[in-house]
This record gives sequence, C-alpha cells and structure tokens, in this order.
Amino acid sequence: MSDIVLHVADVQKSFGGLKALTDIELEVEEGKTHAIIGPNGAGKSTLLNVCVGRLAPDHGSVTFKGHVLTGKHPYEINQLGVARVFQTPEIFPDLTLLQNVMVPAFAKRDGAFRMDALRSLERETELCGEADHILEDVGLYRFRHKQASSLSRGDKRRLELAMCLIQHPKLLLLDEPTAGMSRHDTNSTIELLKTIKERGMTKVIIEHDMHVVFSLADRISVLAQGKIIAEGSPEEVRGNPKVQEAYLGGAH
Ligand code: ADP
Ligand code: MG
Repeated sequence: MSDIVLHVADVQKSFGGLKALTDIELEVEEGKTHAIIGPNGAGKSTLLNVCVGRLAPDHGSVTFKGHVLTGKHPYEINQLGVARVFQTPEIFPDLTLLQNVMVPAFAKRDGAFRMDALRSLERETELCGEADHILEDVGLYRFRHKQASSLSRGDKRRLELAMCLIQHPKLLLLDEPTAGMSRHDTNSTIELLKTIKERGMTKVIIEHDMHVVFSLADRISVLAQGKIIAEGSPEEVRGNPKVQEAYLGGAH
C-alpha cells in the first residue's frame, strides 16, 4: 500500500452561481510531486486555497497525515507542516530578504511571529546561518541585505520559496512557482525543487509551464471547469486525448 499523506475527498466549492470545484478527489503520496494542471479559471488556485484553509469548501474534506484540515485556521495548518507559495508572492516588502526569511523561522521556533526579534538578528547566529544557506539555495544570497520590494517578480517568488523552506515543511504547495521567471531562473527553480524532492518533501505543484510539469511531476491531475478530467503518470496524461483537447492542445 502506498502512503497517502494528502487526501482531498469529494470537495465542492461555488462562488455564487459559479461551480469552481465539483466532486474533487485527490490523493498525494508521501515524498512525491503531484502536479495539478488545467486551463485558466479551471479551479486550481481555489483547490490549493481549500487545502491550506484560506477557503472553506461547501462540501467535502481535506486530510493531511490523519489530521482533518477542513475548518482549521491557515496558521494551524501551517503548524502541522504544510507550507505554500501563492500565485501572488506574499512577502514583507519593507524588510530585507534575510529578515523576510527569519520571520517564518522565528514563528516555527517560538510558535509566534516576533517582528521585534528582527532588530537583534546578529544574536541569532544559528537561524541566520540557516537563512543564509537557504537564500544561497534559491540564488538570492547576494541580495540578502536588500529590501524585498526591490526584487523582480521572479525573485520575489524565490524569496517566498525560501520563506517556506526554512520551515522544513512536510508538504509544500506551490501555485505557479515559476510564473514571471526567465527561462534561466525557471530552470534553476526546477533544479532546486528536484533537490527538495530528494530530501523527501511531498509537493503539490500547480503549473502552467509544461516543461516544469514534465520535469518534476510523478503524478498529474488535470482540472477543467472545476472537475478532474484525468489523472495519471506524466506519460498517461500526455497521451490522453481528453487532456490534449481540454488543455495541451489549447496551450500550444
Ligand atoms: P485557476 O487557478 O485554475 O486559474 P481559479 O481557482 O483562480 O482558477 O478560479 C476558478 C474560477 O473561480 C474562475 O472562474 C474564477 O473567476 C472563480 N473565482 C476564483 N476565486 C473567486 C472568488 N474569490 N470569488 C468569485 N469567483 C472566484
Ligand atoms: Mg490560479
């Protein structure tokens, strides 16, 4: 039996008359990278938001390692080891990169956000060392004393990824992590995400870029108009005529 860590069961979500998600079933195996693809407006971000507690589903549940996430606050879900990179980077624009990475590091260590602790960073040698190391991993070390607002959109996404990685999450959910990146930065992000996988982290990745999807995914679920229309290995999905019609055909 495979080890399912994330289980989305019969999830439905409507916005007024619009059915954004219908009968969603998703199982993600431990240590795997599960991609969710589909055309714009298919419901991908909505599904991710339901998983991390930002949106309450109208029906159904999300379970992570035996914990029911549905109804929990995003912060509680994060404390269970679930981290996410949103479609629009959520960083602290006025803080330096190092300070940005230290905020979740303190939250993880001390159980609370402590902006005051940022004033005495030099005393936090151990965490700072780790933050520097992670900034190096994501290719942002040279900017660590710059204000986050000065970064390009792609680099902001890498900073947000660094803010997730310092939490050592068990499950990482990424909503279009390479959006806004150059091909070069996209390729280094793919390499970084591959390295994370080697460390055993489970990932759910929403991605438009097929090069990224096929470089990283072990399994792929295809969403179209709020429904999962196909699920399988990258080869199975690539060869599925329904998928080609709904997505791949239209995208290229
Ligand atoms: P995707 O990420 O696949 O592009 P979304 O999950 O963002 O799609 O959106 C799915 C559908 O739900 C779209 O039609 C979108 O306009 C709608 N939608 C998403 N969020 C909201 C919201 N907060 N209020 C109303 N409609 C929304
Ligand atoms: Mg989206």
